[in-house]
Amino acid sequence: DTPTRLAAVRAGGQEFLTGTLEASSLLEKIEILTCVAQYEPYKVLIIDDSRAQALHTERLLNSAGIITRTLIEPIQAMAELADFQPDLIILDMYMPACTGTELAKVIRHNDRYVSVPIIYLSAEDDLDKQLDAMSEGGDDFLTKPIKPRHLITTVRNRAARARNLKARMVRDSLTGLYNHTHILQLLEDCSFRARRENKPLSFAMLDIDHFKRVNDSHGHPMGDRVIKSLALFLKQRLRKTDFIGRYGGEEFAIVMPDTDLEAACKVLDEIRQRFAEIHYPAQPQDLWCTFSAGVVELREDSDSLMMASQADEALYRAKDSGRNRVQAARHQSATFSPESTDSVINL
Ligand code: GH3
Ligand code: MG
Ligand code: MG
Repeated sequence: DTPTRLAAVRAGGQEFLTGTLEASSLLEKIEILTCVAQYEPYKVLIIDDSRAQALHTERLLNSAGIITRTLIEPIQAMAELADFQPDLIILDMYMPACTGTELAKVIRHNDRYVSVPIIYLSAEDDLDKQLDAMSEGGDDFLTKPIKPRHLITTVRNRAARARNLKARMVRDSLTGLYNHTHILQLLEDCSFRARRENKPLSFAMLDIDHFKRVNDSHGHPMGDRVIKSLALFLKQRLRKTDFIGRYGGEEFAIVMPDTDLEAACKVLDEIRQRFAEIHYPAQPQDLWCTFSAGVVELREDSDSLMMASQADEALYRAKDSGRNRVQAARHQSATFSPESTDSVINL
C-alpha cells in the first residue's frame, strides 16, 4: 500500500518489489540498480538558426555529459531526427525558414516522435506567446538568458521521463521484448545504417510449431510460459547488439546487425536445437516445443519491408517442408539452399 511504499522511499528505497516477480524482470531491475547495464548518455538535438546560440547551449549540455547535435537548417529536421534519434529537442522560436511552433507541429505529425520532449529556448518573454507555443506540441518554455543549472536539470528530467515512457511504449508486456511496431522500426533504422556503413544485416522470423496444440492440451497459461521462456532463451543466446521482438502471438522477429545470412542461420539453428531440448514439466507427460524460422539478408535491391516479407515467406516454406527448421530466403545464398545443406536445414 501507499504508506508502506512511502516509508520505503523515506528509507532511501530505490525499488519496491512485491508478489510474484518474473526471474527475468528481477534480473533486469538488479542490472539497472547495480549499474551493470550501461546507460547511454542523453542525446539532445538543438535546432537554432543562430550558430553562436546553439554552440553556447551545446557547451553547457556537453559539460554535463549530454551528447548534442546542432541543426541550423530547420527544414532538415526530420532527416536529422531519424538519424540521430534524440531523447529531447531544444527548439528556437524564431527562425527564417519557419517558426519553432510550426516545426513542432510537423515533428508531431510523425507517430514516431509524438513523445519526444520539445523544449523552446527563446528570448520571447511574452507569456501569452509562450503559452501558445506550449499548446502547439511543446513541453517547456525556457527564456534566455538561462542559468546553466536550470537548463541542465530541465533537460535531464525531461529526457529521463521520456526514456522511461518510451521503454514502456515499445515493449511487449508479456515478454519484455520489443513489440511489433518497434521491431519493424528498428529493422528500418538498421537497414539504413547497414547500407551507409556497408555492413551486412540479417533479419529472422520465428514461429513456434503447432502451438495451438500446447494451448489445447495444457491450457493458455502453459502456452504463455512457453512464449516467455523462448523470449528469455533468445535474450540469453543472442548477441547484445541483436534486437529481439515479439512479432505476434507465438511469433518472434530478430534484427541482427553486422551479421550475414550464413552466420545468422548458424546461430538460429543452434538455438533451434537447444530450444527443442527444453522439457517443461507437465501432466500427464512433459511438454516440449520446436520452432521454425525464416532468415533473410539485406541486399542492394531490397529494403526493410521487402526483408520482412521475404523472411515471412521463408518461414512459410520452413513450415511447409516439415517445421523445426531454419530456412534461408529464396535466391539468397547457395550455401543455405535446402538442396546443398540438408544437415543444417533438415534437422
Ligand atoms: P504452426 O506450426 O503452423 O505455426 O501451427 P500453430 O498451431 O503454432 O499456428 P496457429 O497460427 O494455427 O496457432 C497459433 C496459436 O497461438 C493460436 C493461439 O491460440 C495461440 N496464441 C497466440 N498468442 C498467444 C498468447 O499470447 N498466449 C498463448 N498461450 N497462446 C497464444
Ligand atoms: Mg503463428
Ligand atoms: Mg505457430
